[in-house]
Amino acid sequence: YRGESLNSAASTSQSYGSSFNDSKWSDTSYDAKKKLQSWFQLPDGNWELAKILTTSGTELVISLSDEKVLKVSGDTLTPANPDILDGVDDLMQLSYLNEPSVLHNLQFRYDRDMIYTKAGPVLVAINPFKKVPLYGNDFIEGYRRKTIASPHVYAITDTALREMIRDEVNQSIVISGESGAGKTETAKIAMQYLAALGGGSGIEYEILKTNPILEAFGNAKTSRNNNSSRFGKLIEINFSETGRISGANIQTFLLEKSRVVQCAEGERSYHSFYQLCAGAPPSLREKLNLKTAMEYNYLRQSSCYSIPGVDDAKEFRVVTEALDVVHVSKEDQESVFAMLSAVLWLGNVSFAAVDDENHVEPVNDEGLVTVAKLIGCNVADLKLALSTRNMKVRNENIVQRLTLSQAIDARDALAKSIYSCLFDWLVEQINKSLVVGKRRTGRSISILDIYGFESFIRNSFEQFCINYANERLQQHFNRHLFKLEQEEYIQDGIEWARVDFEDNQDCLSLFEKKPLGLLSLLDEESTFPNGTDLTFATKLKEHLHSDPCFRGEREKAFTVCHYAGEVMYDTTGFLEKNRDLLHLDSIQLLSSCQSNLPQAFAANLVAQSESSLSGLLNKSGGADFQKLSVATKFKGQLFQLMKRLENTTPHFIRCIKPNNNQSSGLYDQGLVLQQLKCCGVLEVVRISRSGFPTRMSHKKFARRYGFLLLESVASQDPLSVSVSILHQFGILPEMYHIGYTKLFFRMGQISVLEDTRNRT
Ligand code: ATP
Ligand code: MG
Repeated sequence: YRGESLNSAASTSQSYGSSFNDSKWSDTSYDAKKKLQSWFQLPDGNWELAKILTTSGTELVISLSDEKVLKVSGDTLTPANPDILDGVDDLMQLSYLNEPSVLHNLQFRYDRDMIYTKAGPVLVAINPFKKVPLYGNDFIEGYRRKTIASPHVYAITDTALREMIRDEVNQSIVISGESGAGKTETAKIAMQYLAALGGGSGIEYEILKTNPILEAFGNAKTSRNNNSSRFGKLIEINFSETGRISGANIQTFLLEKSRVVQCAEGERSYHSFYQLCAGAPPSLREKLNLKTAMEYNYLRQSSCYSIPGVDDAKEFRVVTEALDVVHVSKEDQESVFAMLSAVLWLGNVSFAAVDDENHVEPVNDEGLVTVAKLIGCNVADLKLALSTRNMKVRNENIVQRLTLSQAIDARDALAKSIYSCLFDWLVEQINKSLVVGKRRTGRSISILDIYGFESFIRNSFEQFCINYANERLQQHFNRHLFKLEQEEYIQDGIEWARVDFEDNQDCLSLFEKKPLGLLSLLDEESTFPNGTDLTFATKLKEHLHSDPCFRGEREKAFTVCHYAGEVMYDTTGFLEKNRDLLHLDSIQLLSSCQSNLPQAFAANLVAQSESSLSGLLNKSGGADFQKLSVATKFKGQLFQLMKRLENTTPHFIRCIKPNNNQSSGLYDQGLVLQQLKCCGVLEVVRISRSGFPTRMSHKKFARRYGFLLLESVASQDPLSVSVSILHQFGILPEMYHIGYTKLFFRMGQISVLEDTRNRT
């Protein structure tokens, strides 16, 4: 049952430097073996500590915890760390850095509610799925004063804040991990810390209140997480020169619209719907003609209405209070709820045949009438928009009647559009409220909470986009931690064996190549009137079969070799989701509405298009509202995001889900390991351990610590001062390098200087 050893990539393991001891049994002497404990992998894949009783040749006799004695071959064992290293704060401190040792260290801490561990510069956070006593004012104060040193989101956030002020560089905190791993909670914890340290003006309170709003409208219960974010989010928090919060801005990415009209058994649509149905006061219920959640088709289809431990009615009040705080007027709030109600009632609109050619019309019932009333249009206009399409063929206007499935698509498209426009509108209102003063000035810290890599049994367009985003983020991570690191050593004249790392450029190129990449081909096929998911899949296979990251599969499927593993995508629905068409008739309907929100939505939809509404109207055959494809828009957003992140000093937090049941105290080694591998945590530890992660220019170093010198230095040049400091503090020569312009230190080496400096 031999577990794959961490350094199975033997070709690169040499270059990690001599300080890296990844421990092969062959390297260890017989005596040492007898003293050491080892890891033995059980048939279920888990590792257990084994004691070596006797050895003869390559055969060993070992005993396990249940007193079972086994005869095994030497290479089935992996060295374990001495007990004294149990539960170290930073995986870099482990003498043996192999999979079982890393897993054990994290579990050892997790069992003691120490959910945070450093992996070199990266913070690993394991979801406790219960309240842990690690937060609140006392802890915030402890991290601020540095009286608590244990790894924490607070500590990372504190570093970001200090570096922002010290280096005058914007910072970012990039949080990643699978669904349910704890990204959103972690982001909130970081925001709390910033609010506590940079607060004072009151704006921090508004910033914190954006969380319940965005979660109500953008989160839903899924099979993996009862509060799953169905959108990506970047929040930029601005600071004045003195380190006070001066404003904020939120950007969101790719809300999962399909959930509004369709969701799987046991999952829910967006929280906002259930909150409204459960919590609206009687007067509002009457105005919006609200029913219970069970009476709406869109909510009924998944037969799941509540979440254990969540009181939707109470949440409704939390959200309305939060809306008050971010200055959404009561009147606008009522319009927001009217839109939610309109979406729900749209789902109840049914159709009846009007001729023998399968053409249908909406039934004139409570659903139709309520929708018309809520969005502020004539029932007749709504009826037309849901049953016909205006088309221009050879300069002639033709009115086409819709079949049942076309009409249902038109209805669902309208519902999805209203909801996603509502979401965007809310974000816009929040942003308006968070701009303080005329201009944002000074520095910022951005927090990115974005969906992690996804690989399911069936993967669709959403996973395609999400995993593409993760490739981009992974490249950012790699670049930052490995590439820039090494380039810096070389530039500064330091001898340094190159460390190879997994570069994912090939996979990114597969997505982005023009004209024959995944995204280009998808867009091209989406514009062909006769393009189908099948013709798309066939084209991919035709053009990309020789790409090393691509593999054609049977029928409509294809596989991409992502950095985190292979994912097979089923192209069913790709074109429709990418086109995301809304009939022009529907937009015209919205713009003709009496209420202000539908009008704003229509204006927004038109603005997203490259040409004006009138231009579209005159286009021949332009019955559909052609805007940027979803994939192209998303790619643009990602590029913009990357550009923003590249101008910041990043701090990475990797969230890990210890089990798939959302339950506390359960630590599934296999699941944790798979996530550690996916996010490159182990590679980072390897490289950081052999590298010199702390660096400072001679000048800065001399200025920062020069005053600690006991004897004055003959020459005042920064390099001489620096060398004297190093000598005085007895920093060992192998622990630092002197470059042309900078000093490079191994992990943790300057802490003694910092401590002395802080005490002085
Ligand atoms: P998704 O990608 O689906 O949005 P996520 O990574 O954002 O997932 P969260 O919603 O942050 O995951 O976390 C899921 C749940 O795990 C939370 O609702 C909460 O119950 C629990 N949880 C996460 N982090 C913590 C924490 N630090 N302390 C206590 N509970 C936590
Ligand atoms: Mg989330």
